[in-house]
Amino acid sequence: MRMIKTSLLAHFKQPVLLNLDWVRHFNAKAVLGLKAVLGLKAVLAMLILNIALNMAVIAPAQANMIRDTEIEDFLLSLAKPMAATAGLDASELQIRVIIEPSFNAFVTGENTIFVHSGMILEANNVFVVAGVLAHEIGHLASGHVPSRGEVIDQAILTTMVGAVAAIALSASGHGDAAVGTVIGSNDRARRHVLKQSRQDESEADQWAIKLMDDHGYPTLPMANLMARLAKQRLLPVSRQSDYYQTHPGAGERSSVFLDHAKNTANASAVNAQPSAHMIMRFNQVKAKMHGWTDQPSQSLLQTSATSDADSRYLRAIALYRLSDLEGALDLIDQLISDDPENPFYHEFKGEILTSSGRPNDAILAFQDGLNRLDAHINKGQMLLSLGRAFMHIGDADSLNMAIPILEEANRLEPDWAFVKHQLGITYGRTGRVTDADIVLAERALMLGNDDLAKQLAFRAKSNPDATNIQKQLALDIIAQTDQ
Ligand SMILES: [Zn+2]
Repeated sequence: MRMIKTSLLAHFKQPVLLNLDWVRHFNAKAVLGLKAVLGLKAVLAMLILNIALNMAVIAPAQANMIRDTEIEDFLLSLAKPMAATAGLDASELQIRVIIEPSFNAFVTGENTIFVHSGMILEANNVFVVAGVLAHEIGHLASGHVPSRGEVIDQAILTTMVGAVAAIALSASGHGDAAVGTVIGSNDRARRHVLKQSRQDESEADQWAIKLMDDHGYPTLPMANLMARLAKQRLLPVSRQSDYYQTHPGAGERSSVFLDHAKNTANASAVNAQPSAHMIMRFNQVKAKMHGWTDQPSQSLLQTSATSDADSRYLRAIALYRLSDLEGALDLIDQLISDDPENPFYHEFKGEILTSSGRPNDAILAFQDGLNRLDAHINKGQMLLSLGRAFMHIGDADSLNMAIPILEEANRLEPDWAFVKHQLGITYGRTGRVTDADIVLAERALMLGNDDLAKQLAFRAKSNPDATNIQKQLALDIIAQTDQ
């Protein structure tokens, strides 16, 4: 698949199923019907146009989607209580982060909020993050679907911006080229897809104000943000930000938040300050995001090994990305000895040790992280890392240890293709070929490659050793490809 970078593939040491060209697949389907009506030449022209349109929107969204438990949990800890107040099922709410320096956030489906890394880095106040999330929750609660371009099919959008395609931040960031892919000319197509109407914006803001009030978050920081954005009206379109273009009406929106801040009877909410805990987590997440998205050499210049914990965290990530694994390990060990209960320090230590070719030590570090993770936090990603450490050892016992861990990760992260991929590989390496075919068929289905899904499911079904349950699973997949 396009977004899995070559540096990542080097980790797998196994044949990888990469022929997931669903663009071609999509067009092939469309062509069958059109060829009869329009003739070959017209169809070819449309095909080229279609590919161009699809590519424009697909590339950026997939290339930059990342997963990270620490960042997602911080955002969810702000969003979930507000989502519950808005009447949504908070347990279903998902947040995905896109590595993109511009300030933006958007929703595409029923329960997922996408935020740009730039939203976290540029927010000067944690209440801005809360306000942006509250606004997006407002869109979800009102059932707003961003206006779609005529050419963009809902199913395509789901695959494209769906949570399916993400990779782990820690897996994507080792090495310089892995994150921060340039979006360039593709930006416009995406803006078009994600643009909201003014009407929807004001409705989402009404929600945001209500949710922020209910949770004691002041609205003045949002008013200031909108006022700053409104100034972009004077800029040429090419210099206006993503957020400005996809969320129209910044000027009016600023007044709405400001009026509310002035007129609210709830004086304590107007003057509320973020709790020390909120500020601490926000700063940690910011440091982490800087570590993964800034130039590592710049990060080293801007931090020192003796400064505060957040700078050292940032620095450890920069060293890791520069392949100074010993330096990174040294710093993370210091951070752990200062704050041994932070699960994400242990997680990162595990990643460093895995990359250092010390999977046995990495396993201990990931287990330390898992043991310290709050019960409400999704363990899927850390289990994936633990399972991968066992895969790295690679002998039969370790692979058999990896399987139940990866199965649990897959249960907790059912929409994440990368987990299915790792589980499929491990099944294959332990000789469980039918299980491998089924899980890789599910993955192909998820990524929109029906042909491959069907091929793998047929092979699973025809295996003489396949159990009835396996045959049924294979048939279910085949049935879904025929829809
Ligand atoms: Zn909006």
